Amino acid sequence: MTDLQSSGELPPVATLSREQRRGVHCVWCSAALSVRTAVNLGAREIAVFGTTVQWFPRCCISCRDSHPE
Ligand SMILES: [Zn+2]
Repeated sequence: MTDLQSSGELPPVATLSREQRRGVHCVWCSAALSVRTAVNLGAREIAVFGTTVQWFPRCCISCRDSHPE
């Protein structure tokens, strides 16, 4: 798979739900996240209609373990 965005190994933003883009759900498995289980992946920048937008993906602990940075 080489269709990931250049900002990292995250799934393409266009394929994510609104909740995943907001960091409410895991970016990989869509699990609902809580303060205890969420792992911040850091701010990412994406280009949307010619504008650069920041988003703050988060994932669950088990996905973090299977997707080491
Ligand atoms: Zn997950």
